[in-house]
Amino acid sequence: MEQHEIRRPLLGMTLAELETVAAEAGLRKFAAKQIARRLYVNRARSIDEMTELPKASREWLSEHYCVGLQAPVKASRSADGTVKYLFATRGEDFDFLTSGKGGRDVEAVYIPDRDRETLCVSSQAGCKMGCKFCMTGRQGFHGDLTAAGIINQIFAIPESPTLTNLVFMGMGEPMDNIDEVLKALEVLTAPWGLAWSPKRITVSSIGKIRELRRLLDETKVHVAISIHSPYPAEREGLMPVERAYPIKDVIGLLREYDFAHQRRLSFEYIMWRGVNDDLRHADALSRLLRGLDCRVNLIRYHSLPGSPLRTASEAVMTAFRDRLNEAGLTATIRASRGEDIQAACGMLAGEARG
Ligand code: SF4
Repeated sequence: MEQHEIRRPLLGMTLAELETVAAEAGLRKFAAKQIARRLYVNRARSIDEMTELPKASREWLSEHYCVGLQAPVKASRSADGTVKYLFATRGEDFDFLTSGKGGRDVEAVYIPDRDRETLCVSSQAGCKMGCKFCMTGRQGFHGDLTAAGIINQIFAIPESPTLTNLVFMGMGEPMDNIDEVLKALEVLTAPWGLAWSPKRITVSSIGKIRELRRLLDETKVHVAISIHSPYPAEREGLMPVERAYPIKDVIGLLREYDFAHQRRLSFEYIMWRGVNDDLRHADALSRLLRGLDCRVNLIRYHSLPGSPLRTASEAVMTAFRDRLNEAGLTATIRASRGEDIQAACGMLAGEARG
């Protein structure tokens, strides 16, 4: 092997991809399941640990592939127990990006809460969507994460073995990197992978319609839609994506699916003072979501430097929630976590690297 040849990470590979790798290594097809078991069940840290494979095959594999596990480069701990982990997108001999030049790390946030341990993972380095209230959006786009880069966030933290839930609500719009997100979800839920119930996973989206349909058709995970205003012009001012994917079309798509039984649908609504916190908004939101089996999460806003947006008051949020509940919508005010380490909703920015 050349000194600087890039080895491909096995982590994040689906069974079909591992079957291709096994064939390249001259192994029989069933060896792919053995590799998957070592990777995802035994959490091997090196190919050498895959002792059921012949030594020559392990040596060949080690020349061209690596497990691809990479520890976070930094951990910031909040007073409330939340931990923000920073991951490099470039490894020593492998790369966690499928596109883009890199240059910016990604973050994952561990949130312990009584009997739940949730990890909020990133799907992209930065984001193209340009939402006006979001720190990640301000950073611009730096690349799509591979499935390996997504799974690594879950595997490489010390709390990994006790995680109970995953939310794809970190940096990036998951639907904008749908192929790699679907691969990661397959690894997480398949019997040959981590065999997690899809009910433990929530994927958020601003509503890229074609990709959202794929997520709904190809998985059973819970879905969270960022809505933030029931009025198209107002939503477009906050989320330019409204122009390409109007929320009424997103809701039209969601009405085709069953959210009463297999999976949960929620809408995320950040509340800004004097922008979208009027009871008129609550009434319009109820009308827009009428007949959909869903819940609404009301979220406090964490002000960004230079932004005129401010969070709504507690009293206004409570009145807004009550108005939605009176209209028959399940609405709750989400607890805010990790604000002191810039890990709360909309605050993830990564760090720039030269
Ligand atoms: Fe991207 Fe989500 Fe931020 Fe919008 S809110 S810019 S979709 S990361």
